[in-house]
Amino acid sequence: MRKKIGAELAIENPVDADIVVPVPDGGTPAAIGFAQAAGLPFELGIIRNHYVGRTFIQPTDSIRHMGVKLKHNANRRIIEDKRIALVDDSVVRGTTSQKIVQLLRDAGAKEVHMRVASPPTRSSCFYGVDTPETAKLLASRMSIEEMAKFIRVDSLGFLSIDGLYRALGETARENKQPQFCDACFTAEYPTRLLDQKVTASGLCRLSPRADCESV
Ligand code: SF4
Repeated sequence: MRKKIGAELAIENPVDADIVVPVPDGGTPAAIGFAQAAGLPFELGIIRNHYVGRTFIQPTDSIRHMGVKLKHNANRRIIEDKRIALVDDSVVRGTTSQKIVQLLRDAGAKEVHMRVASPPTRSSCFYGVDTPETAKLLASRMSIEEMAKFIRVDSLGFLSIDGLYRALGETARENKQPQFCDACFTAEYPTRLLDQKVTASGLCRLSPRADCESV
């Protein structure tokens, strides 16, 4: 299924690149599907140290930044002078993507084009996945062009929500049966929110003091 998502991503967001490099491990299956659909070589240009914990659940930025440095290394012999299609499974805060892109540039990448195997993550999860609050999600406060500048990539493309459902074998999001939760991409929560309200500018918390407080 993740390979099909990567193939759909390549169809929706083609790129002139020399090689496809995954951000390991989350981006690896999608990058394989992307490379097969695009007819480009798949290369393990980033090596991941498996003994360092997940970065996005670390409590402070400084610990997260340190984690990224310890966790990923670029393979210069693969990366140097190449136009890279960099595939990851999602962009959450964007800080990890920024570091990975810098890692590739430091290793001599000629161009870095990022392709993300999900729609932009715009809303928090209230069902148990430990994502940050909405205001800290990059896609909740920036357009795709602004995100590309922030991450410092030559181009940035996300899978569309319809592309995601196509990869899952559904004809369209409206026809989904049974219903999947996709609230972190759409802000359409499958259960009623008791203390939060979805507004045009994002989520806000209902409180006795104010009608709506930004979260
Ligand atoms: S799809 Fe739903 S349950 Fe899964 S992370 Fe997003 S909001 Fe949470």
